[in-house]
This record gives sequence, structure tokens and C-alpha cells, in this order.
Amino acid sequence: MKVAIDLHIHTLLSPCAGVEMIPINIVMKVLELGIDMIAITDHNAVGNISSVVNFAKKYAPELKVLPGMEITSREEVHILGILPTLESAKELELIIHKHLSDVPDKNYSTEQLIVDEDANFVRYEEHFLLGSTDFSVEEISNLVHSFGGIVIPAHIDRESFGLIYTLGFFPPNLKVDAVEVSKFATEEKLEIVRASIPYRVPIIFSSDAHFLNDFSKPRTFLDLEEKSFEALKKALRDYKFLRV
Ligand SMILES: [Zn+2]
Ligand SMILES: [Zn+2]
Repeated sequence: MKVAIDLHIHTLLSPCAGVEMIPINIVMKVLELGIDMIAITDHNAVGNISSVVNFAKKYAPELKVLPGMEITSREEVHILGILPTLESAKELELIIHKHLSDVPDKNYSTEQLIVDEDANFVRYEEHFLLGSTDFSVEEISNLVHSFGGIVIPAHIDRESFGLIYTLGFFPPNLKVDAVEVSKFATEEKLEIVRASIPYRVPIIFSSDAHFLNDFSKPRTFLDLEEKSFEALKKALRDYKFLRV
């Protein structure tokens, strides 16, 4: 089946995201746009994933919601990890939180909201989610893969937090399952991205939505056996030729 994907979506847990990014609004918006499968990828945290998963299960069972995280490397590169299960995502979060830099001022946590599926306040996230981990990009890739996850360098065309511009090159031994380009990627930037990657890998688009207005019509469609993590993983392996 043809499946429209958007694997990079923030909730109000990310301090840089809008408070409107609650389960009902995210689910309604992606359904309206015709998106079939999404991943919730807050910065260095997974606290709101179960709320979106549970909301979708109840009110929009046709939408598949995958657990994920946008992890910040010590070089300040953003890497998406998409995980097979919520349990594995939570285990990964425990490790990530032990390796996140801390800041002395604790006031930030009031912007990091964890809510239930009906958007009721549950708690504040205490870790400073916009900090960096002390993991290199290779270590993050190995860590996510050790959980059976999918590794996707985020918005690789962007100069801030994008892999190629932050490191200055694409590490030849870095193992990734796809790379993501942002919706703002110009044809010129896409050429640079294509020329920088030393091996064949699918290139996908995501919204990286922090606000409801950031969502856009899907631009990446995969032919999947079913809407599942395993089918996505297999398709990315088989879609070595996928290009934008
Ligand atoms: Zn990012
Ligand atoms: Zn993001």
C-alpha cells in the first residue's frame, strides 16, 4: 500500500514547540493532510509519545504513530531515532538523559510539558531538552541501532544542527537508514546533500513541525506491506534508490 509518512513531529514537550501541539491537534492535522504514518520526535525526550499513540488508537486507528526522538550529538547535530516500541524508546531516553548536559538555571522546565491523551497536564520534564548529549553522531547511530531502531540525520540541508554543515562533511563510516531534508531545501542545497553522501541511502522529507502551521502536504510516499515499524524499516532498506 502507498503510505504517506512524516517522521519528524514535535509536541509541546519540546520547549521550542507551540502549546497547541497536543495529541488531538496533531492527529487531526495530519489526517486532514492525508498523512498515514507519523513519528513523534521531541528533543531528547519521549514523554508525550504514549499520549499521541493512545489518542490515535482511540479516535484515528487508521493513523500509525511511531515512537521517536530527535537526539542532539555533542557536535550539535540533530539525529532522529525511530524506535520499534514505546518500551525501547523509554529505555533509550533513560540513557540519553544520563548523557544530557545540564544547566544551573532550572526555570526552563516549565516550558517542557508532558500531557495525557486528552491534553491534561501531567508533569514538567526536568531535564534540559535543548542541551546536547556527550555522544558523537556515530555513538548515537550505534545506540539507536542497538535498540533495533532507524537512524535518520535530521534536516541535513540546514546549516544549524544539520549533519553536513555542522561537521563539514558526511562521515563515510556513519551508518544511517535514511537522511531527511527539510521542506525549505532549495534545489542547490539538495545537490550539495546528494553529492555529500558517500553511499546510496533514501532521502526523505519531513515537516519538523513545531507548530500546527508547520505541517505541509506529505512529499514522501513509501510502498509498504502494512503501516508498521518493521515494514518501514524494510522499505527504507529496499528503497536505496529513493531520491528527492
Ligand atoms: Zn532539529
Ligand atoms: Zn525537530
